[in-house]
Amino acid sequence: MKVAKKVKDVEYAIRDITLYAKELERRGKEILYLNIGDPVLYDFRTPEHIKEAFISAIRSDKNYYPPSEGLEELREAIASLEKSKGMNVTASDVIITNGVSEAINMLMASIIDEGDEVLVPGPCYPPYSSYTRLFGGKPIEYMCNPTNKWMPDLDDLKSKINERTVAIVVINPNNPTGSIYDSSVLRAIADLASSHGIYLICDEIYDRIVFDDSFTSMASIAKDAPLIMLNGFSKVYLMTGWRLGYLCMNDKVSEELKKELPKLARLRISSNMPAQYAALEALRHSDHFINDMVSRLRARRDYIIKRLDNINGLEYVKPRGAFYIFPRIDLSIGRWSSDLEFVKDLLLETGVLTVNGSGFGKKYGSGHFRIVYLPTIDILEEAMNRLEGFMSKRSKD
Ligand code: PLP
Repeated sequence: MKVAKKVKDVEYAIRDITLYAKELERRGKEILYLNIGDPVLYDFRTPEHIKEAFISAIRSDKNYYPPSEGLEELREAIASLEKSKGMNVTASDVIITNGVSEAINMLMASIIDEGDEVLVPGPCYPPYSSYTRLFGGKPIEYMCNPTNKWMPDLDDLKSKINERTVAIVVINPNNPTGSIYDSSVLRAIADLASSHGIYLICDEIYDRIVFDDSFTSMASIAKDAPLIMLNGFSKVYLMTGWRLGYLCMNDKVSEELKKELPKLARLRISSNMPAQYAALEALRHSDHFINDMVSRLRARRDYIIKRLDNINGLEYVKPRGAFYIFPRIDLSIGRWSSDLEFVKDLLLETGVLTVNGSGFGKKYGSGHFRIVYLPTIDILEEAMNRLEGFMSKRSKD
């Protein structure tokens, strides 16, 4: 029975690695899950007023198919939010999706033909590469430099643009590195996209989870580039399970794409309707709980780096946003042949589940691993004790 070749290249290391852990769990091992970036799985709760808006939508029978592109009110609210950041966009340029994940799917389906290239950050949140491959394209990793706060290397990026390049992807704040890009870097990337006439795809799903500095949105910078902004409600508004996000296109994006892409929205009928009412409520009243969430996350970030400072063989760049850290592993310590072997060895020996860096891109992710520091400090303490013990044991073996 046939399985399509293109599906075999699809990878999502963050969840693929869970298969190993589940097997160990079945055999009775206790697992500490530090692999999935879902705050609601830990002690962060969807705020009550957002839950109420969802429930009230259901109770008042808003249970039918909404318009494919999304509720008009929500599209208006998102357009005015993005406009307030500086983006030239109207409600008709906004499409509500079942998570940013679906926005990536629709977007890549709409812009990639066989052999086209998409420049993705190295390391990169995996769906950008996987969907590019699924639609016949080639993801090309551009270097983000750990010796420069994981900032994109502009010379490397420039050198990889050619006649097959259709888009540059920017993820800021970044998953998996936790870095936040300087406005001068954003400006240089926007200039490259506009001078080459290629799409600038910017994912800002962590835009309000920022610890030390202010955050500059690409919306305020890329006035001349064809900018496609992706954002959503999963992380900042703690609505992961409801699956709601959006994409919006500025006035430099071609009318042709604005006509063709919404066909994919119509094809899948619509996104979740009660969640769209909840999203409207989230956009109206949220500052209070976001501040609280960010200060709790900052304390967890500070705890994790304090512990990593004392572990031999792991080197990290201090994350400035999101809830990930991406340390480099001295593989010689445990004679591991790869970061995947390290992650599996750590899991088998200690039950601590992290994600292999190569799952975020072979070229620049290899040799690293990603830790999610969403759990409470007592769970992080247990995980760090196990990691520290593991590293010191392996260095003596
Ligand atoms: N974009 C980035 C950079 C992410 O890290 C994630 C989830 O981890 C997503 C998109 C997925 O978002 P959604 O839940 O809206 O599909």
